[in-house]
Amino acid sequence: MRSIRLEAVNDFAEWRAAARGLLLGGIPPDVVVWADPAAPADLFAEDDEPPAVTQRAVGTVPPQFIALGEAAICHHDPDRFALLYRLLWRLQKDKHLLEARSDPDVGKLERKASAVRRDAHKMTAFVRFRTLASQTGRERFAAWFEPEHYILERTAPFFVRRFAGMDWAIVTPYRSAAWDGETLRFGPGGSKADVPAEDALEDAWRTYFSSVFNPARLKVAMMKSEMPVKYWRNLPEAELIPELIRTAEARKDDMIARMATLPPARHLRQSARAELGKPEAAAITSLPQARAAIEGCTRCPLHEHATQAVFGEGPPAAEVMFVGEQPGDQEDLSGKPFVGPAGLVFDRAMKKVGLDRREVYVTNAVKHFKFTPRGKRRIHNKPDAGEIEACRFWLDLERQVVAPRVIVAMGATALRGVLGKSATISSLRGTPIALEDGTMLVVTVHPSYLLRLPDRDQAAVELERFEADLKLVARLAERVGR
Ligand code: URA
Repeated sequence: MRSIRLEAVNDFAEWRAAARGLLLGGIPPDVVVWADPAAPADLFAEDDEPPAVTQRAVGTVPPQFIALGEAAICHHDPDRFALLYRLLWRLQKDKHLLEARSDPDVGKLERKASAVRRDAHKMTAFVRFRTLASQTGRERFAAWFEPEHYILERTAPFFVRRFAGMDWAIVTPYRSAAWDGETLRFGPGGSKADVPAEDALEDAWRTYFSSVFNPARLKVAMMKSEMPVKYWRNLPEAELIPELIRTAEARKDDMIARMATLPPARHLRQSARAELGKPEAAAITSLPQARAAIEGCTRCPLHEHATQAVFGEGPPAAEVMFVGEQPGDQEDLSGKPFVGPAGLVFDRAMKKVGLDRREVYVTNAVKHFKFTPRGKRRIHNKPDAGEIEACRFWLDLERQVVAPRVIVAMGATALRGVLGKSATISSLRGTPIALEDGTMLVVTVHPSYLLRLPDRDQAAVELERFEADLKLVARLAERVGR
């Protein structure tokens, strides 16, 4: 038996170095015991030295193994190191092993990786900073968070991007992270007592939460799945939830009773606009909150005729965000972006260049369908500059929350929404552009442009150019994902 004890609970590079040594030595997984680095060391057990790091190439693994492994190693299950080594061992004989979704080890790996990603996403939504006294005059914030897995190191870069201008620390039971505006440092874990319990921000959260809570839309199971109960203990607003649930029925009846005396729609629109301009709007920090809030959006007149706002869709921490123009007829009815004919062109091209739509975030510069009714049909109209500008509130919010590393503007409307000013596609196409916030922008045409080209030869050429742009996106995504 070989007993291996790694130093870190979640360092893929450390595990990989040890696993390489084992593989080189031809040591099969069933004779290796991986000690849990989080458990106290057994004084009488003799651990073997992790095998020496070697530069010699040992086997190869598909890139998904690295991506899944880097996530899965943050899982709290002590079996994760053994599972990874078993898979690494088996991959040497079967390069396509990861495609076998029904394989129990592959299934475990995927479930672990997705549990970690979900926990990391929840962390980006549920960390609540409290202000700390400052000697320097610079505002300082600290937050206590109890993740389910070892995800602080994975998630800290999100907070660096999001709160680059403030000094903050996040303390978890196993590790802490601190940012001083220039450097991100990790230190030992701590306890809840290390972070002040209460400050004025808490009240802002409670006020915001009870104001966006709509008793008529209460679905307790859904709410618990978006905001799992285990996170409630550290959320200032969560203490309101039981009371809000208890009184929801009565408040709903009250809302219905009051509906008969609602003020004129114009007045409602004006006050809703004023509401959205208030600082509370800045408190929208997650996509579910934004999705709920956009249903009441009256920032431009397009909401008056559209069936619903079509918000973006995709993983909340996607590396790549695609921006289109506005929902079309089918998107307006289904509430999902790019599901109609342009969506088909988009999906096909994505598949061809090896991009997985399920892994990217897809949205539009304008969230309501603009059209002219003609008989039974609704004919698409281009959004104007004012509508694009009004809707930038939501696009900016999506960019802030998702914090993608690469943004793809498809068509002139998308480009205007992203840049806040007009620019021509032809002048910016072909080379990624670094935006001020560090995101890379790739500019291409809108997929529906390809559908409108009457000449088949020209359409084929343009489709190839579109695919070449997507290949550029795929290369960038691979680079930033590393
Ligand atoms: N065109 C877009 O720009 N977006 C959609 O969602 C559908 C068509």
